[in-house]
Amino acid sequence: MGKILIVDDSRLIAHVAKTMLTKRGHEIIVAQDGKAGLEAAKSEKPDIILLDVIMPIMDGYEVCEHLKEDDSTKEIPIIMVTSQAEAADKVKGLELGALDYVTKPFDEAELIARVNIHLRLRELYEAVQEQNRQLQKMANRDGLTGLYNHRYFHEQLSQDFLRAKRYNENLSCVLFDIDFFKKFNDTYGHQTGDIVLKALASVVQRATRESDLSARYGGEEFALILYHTDGPAAYEMAERLRTMVESHEVQDNGNVLRVTISLGVATFPHERIHDSKELVDFADQALYKAKDNGRNRVEVFDD
Ligand SMILES: [Mg+2]
Repeated sequence: MGKILIVDDSRLIAHVAKTMLTKRGHEIIVAQDGKAGLEAAKSEKPDIILLDVIMPIMDGYEVCEHLKEDDSTKEIPIIMVTSQAEAADKVKGLELGALDYVTKPFDEAELIARVNIHLRLRELYEAVQEQNRQLQKMANRDGLTGLYNHRYFHEQLSQDFLRAKRYNENLSCVLFDIDFFKKFNDTYGHQTGDIVLKALASVVQRATRESDLSARYGGEEFALILYHTDGPAAYEMAERLRTMVESHEVQDNGNVLRVTISLGVATFPHERIHDSKELVDFADQALYKAKDNGRNRVEVFDD
């Protein structure tokens, strides 16, 4: 089943095609000339267009060219409708981007078969496009936690930093990791470790705003980009996350597991921060300070 636009100046031809295709359950729109055909293609978004070649004012070739030039219509498959005598026209239509042609008077079985095959090809094409979008999305994500991955974090941050610099906006980076995670893994095993990492990711998502970016930075390391966020606000956010993690209980096979995190915060603008790498480096230094000062705490880069 598809939505089919028939563009033909002959009411009779359009009627015959419409009757044949309606019987098969397709939805039909008819346009009587090239201009109306172009408008209907844009507004109705048909799955396929049956396009007559010989029409007054704007012929099928010209319509075909306009359809292919417009981003909103260029992907719609076009089947040219030619008469037996117009052998050269078939080639010309195909050269202009039509996918196929049918000759009139219509052979019903052939018309149906050609329309169906192009509808099927279009479905397959759309499925592939959708799959590509999914793959693209997955390529930016960490498989375990669903947060963005290290590579995407750096790509994004370097762009965000340039924008913050140009428009003189606040931009904060938070790096944090789980305290004594190696010991935790040694005690409970890596599978339990993974459960804790996933649970932590969901706490992170609750603690951050939708506009913030959260990433898994490495094994048990995570990173946040906080937009339009100055130092005190970033500290506050980090502290809120720290307390949420501290009080969060992970249930696993009758065990109640708790972890704590140490966090380092750095904020642009700062006289010593000139690029995104320095922003991350200084957040990392602050994280080390949090570790040195006893863990389960937030430190802010500021010297
Ligand atoms: Mg005609």
